[in-house]
Amino acid sequence: MAHSKKAGFNVLWLQSGGCGGCSMSLLCADTPDFYGALEAADINLLWHPSLSIESGAEALRILQSCIDGTIPLHALCVEGSLLRGPNGTGRFHMLAGTGKPMIDWVRALAAVSLHTVAVGTCAAYGGITAAGGNPTDATGLQYDGDQIGGLLGAGYRSRSGLPVINVAGCPTHPNWVLETLMALAADLFAEGQIDALGRPRFYADHLVHHGCTRNEFYEFKASAEKPSDLGCMMEHMGCKGTQVHADCNTRPWNGEGSCTRGGYACIACTEPGFEEPGHAFQVTPKIAGIPIGLPTDMPKAWFVALASLSKSATPKRVRENAVADHIVVVPAIRKTRLK
Ligand code: SF4
Ligand code: SF4
Repeated sequence: MAHSKKAGFNVLWLQSGGCGGCSMSLLCADTPDFYGALEAADINLLWHPSLSIESGAEALRILQSCIDGTIPLHALCVEGSLLRGPNGTGRFHMLAGTGKPMIDWVRALAAVSLHTVAVGTCAAYGGITAAGGNPTDATGLQYDGDQIGGLLGAGYRSRSGLPVINVAGCPTHPNWVLETLMALAADLFAEGQIDALGRPRFYADHLVHHGCTRNEFYEFKASAEKPSDLGCMMEHMGCKGTQVHADCNTRPWNGEGSCTRGGYACIACTEPGFEEPGHAFQVTPKIAGIPIGLPTDMPKAWFVALASLSKSATPKRVRENAVADHIVVVPAIRKTRLK
């Protein structure tokens, strides 16, 4: 998209230490499509490293114009974690042609931006790039894992007075990004609309478990035992959907999909530290046969009592279908008319 000088809500997008998956996800937005949504909301994409035609000096002029105020910057979007190494210099990631580390550009742009948005879990909390020994000293914009701080510091506020808005997800759902930008552009976003980890509450006040098509299996603790089984994946297959803040199953991806609908456990990609769960992603860790990660808000004793009661009451249909890759026992047909 060419840089336009038209009036509107100016968004500048930078990519740092990440895979570019959040941009790829955004381009898969279906209704409305990415460009259609921007246009409808009067959002002007000043520059994006993969989508804009400007490169080299032209692109740098746009960045510099934002810093010196010639172009008003309304939202700085950063995708990917910020690489502070080696030894805090940031020289592991130089912005080509500038002799300056990317973290210095981000600091300078965040200082003038009306809003600052972390797109994806890498930019929000460090994410996959910060996993393991973290040799590049990767961090999020305002969090390092679940610790406030990150590159910009706990006290950072954009010109609007808001902290960094963490549109966490790996990758992000296209509509989480679009809805955030549209709300910001319409001046409909206030501090009370982000949760304790900086995520927009419109999606982070939900759990992935809400609307999962495997809920009947969950109710009876009828569990999948291997990939492709239809049952609930919490007990054996690593699903954390009962604890994870996101609306993936009530706002299906591209209108129809989600991890659990596709047969994959929710691995908590919207949460800080998801990249290092301490166990294989597709295996549920247990102590004495009881899953370690129990549903949010449910005391362990209740869960154990409920699970054993539900297991003893599991209908044959639910029990057998849970460990099959297609429906093997169909629901009984009954007269449903009220008498
Ligand atoms: S598979 Fe996960 S999200 Fe779906 S019902 Fe089971 S625990 Fe919930
Ligand atoms: S279902 Fe879980 S792992 Fe998958 S995108 Fe949603 S929050 Fe991330």
